[in-house]
Amino acid sequence: MDSRPFSTLLVLSMLWLGIACGPAPAPAPKKSTAPSEASVSETTRLQAMAARFTPVDMVADLSTLPAQERQVVAKLVEAARLTDALFLRQAWAGNESMLMQLVQDESPLGKARLHYFLINKGPWSRLDHNEPFIPGAPEKPAAANFYPAGATKEEVEAWLRTLTEPERQSAMGFFTTLRRPPAGKGNTFQVVPYSLEYQGELARMAELLREAAGLTAQPTLKAFLASRADALLTNDYYASDVAWMELDSSIEPTIGPYEVYEDEWFNAKAAFEAFVAVRDDAETAKLAKLGASLQGIENNLPIEARYRNPKLGGLAPIRVVNEVFAAGDGNHGVQTTAYNLPNDERIVKEKGAKRVMMRNVQQAKFEVALLPISKVVLSPADQRDVSFDAFFTHTVMHEVMHGLGPQQISVGGRATTVRQELKEIYGTIEEAKADVSGLFALQFLVDKGVLDVSLAKTMYKTFLASAFRSIRFGLNEAHGRAVAIQLNYLLDYGAFTMSPDGVFAVNPAKIKEGVNALTRDIMTYQAQGNYERAKAMAARLGVVRPEIQKVLERLKDVPVDIEPRFKIAGELSAAVK
Ligand code: ZN
Repeated sequence: MDSRPFSTLLVLSMLWLGIACGPAPAPAPKKSTAPSEASVSETTRLQAMAARFTPVDMVADLSTLPAQERQVVAKLVEAARLTDALFLRQAWAGNESMLMQLVQDESPLGKARLHYFLINKGPWSRLDHNEPFIPGAPEKPAAANFYPAGATKEEVEAWLRTLTEPERQSAMGFFTTLRRPPAGKGNTFQVVPYSLEYQGELARMAELLREAAGLTAQPTLKAFLASRADALLTNDYYASDVAWMELDSSIEPTIGPYEVYEDEWFNAKAAFEAFVAVRDDAETAKLAKLGASLQGIENNLPIEARYRNPKLGGLAPIRVVNEVFAAGDGNHGVQTTAYNLPNDERIVKEKGAKRVMMRNVQQAKFEVALLPISKVVLSPADQRDVSFDAFFTHTVMHEVMHGLGPQQISVGGRATTVRQELKEIYGTIEEAKADVSGLFALQFLVDKGVLDVSLAKTMYKTFLASAFRSIRFGLNEAHGRAVAIQLNYLLDYGAFTMSPDGVFAVNPAKIKEGVNALTRDIMTYQAQGNYERAKAMAARLGVVRPEIQKVLERLKDVPVDIEPRFKIAGELSAAVK
């Protein structure tokens, strides 16, 4: 077996134990030659880039878990660590050897490089359009390490055209790489299943998952872990994805090859990631309460009665959890706060998809970025009403609202869907709908006495402050643009106001009306499949106006995101060693 994977793991485990990395200044090297001016300024530059991510310890309450289940979490953390090594290799063939070089450089510059490399899982700054920040690093390869070295996209496409449909599906599947065959075997490519390509790590990962399955007393967790272990070795993930949908357990693990964003050629190849989390019982109970109110919300949506759905299905599965550990594709650059899986369309058709929301990650981001932003954009009196509970409850409501309002529609007697009719603008409009109708729904539930009345005081101000956080990430992404639409609409409506010195406020006399009007406009375009109106709205309002740009400039020193530290995971790992 190739010894490389395990040397990467060894280095990574030294780093996890805090032997080599972290923002703490290094002691001066013994036989010191003064670093050059250029090296000092490069060190400062990299430290400033890393400082945009504030280190935060991820806190989760494991005290209610029986000792045996805590051991399960420890095993899952060990299994999850393997996805770090795998993801490094998947992102770029040179990543592991670059890591080896970086850990040997004990100079302040070397440490700054290593720290920022670990945040980005590679030598490109993901916040800065993947600008390389280590000398000798190439541009970030769009093909990652999923396709043969030296091959071009055109070459792969030409080869794909020579295949039969089943062959093509296997070549473009989530869980295979394409490699060059041994020399002299013709000018084609070879399809290599992940179970072979990553054999060493996956064998170890499967072993750890089986051990965890053996320890847990929770049947659905046992079933998922055992079937996921099989999947890693057989390369058939179907049964384990189904078992993941059926998980009903105090421990919520997600581990395996999932998202395809790292493959910028075809978005076809899945990168390894892991989230080990525990269920948040209080939020789960709140969610059940929201689930019971769905039809009531739908029946009162501020749209024409004929556009409402008289018989909603149940609430799509949502889990609220607290993250204990994240790794691989699940931990680089800006941190994931929620995810929808699986990606396998067969399962989505049969069972739907499950949304996992990580409350403690949201809370960390709230404290690191949203609170400081609120101190810039809101008045001192309003800042006091910015609350994490309001922020998180709205985030949950946003997810719930994706399932309400018009979906299956009829245009000129033709049965169709909102998604089909709104084409490329659908994502932006649907995100705006979920946000603004989420505010509508929260107000409705407050008025009905389902949610606490204090929420009405905090949620609009919290939403206003959070709008600036979303827009700061840019308008290229559907949600950022959706937030710009809402902010501009509500400012134009007079529901939000801006003072000449750039302080924003909620107008209590107009906010409910403004939220209802925007909900009505968006949902009506959706119900009518009105592409032109939706597109015009996005073009007019989905922009950063000069006065907003000025505010964004005042936010430049607010951290962008968090750098998670996993103290609990570290303690669990230390305890089993
Ligand atoms: Zn959404």
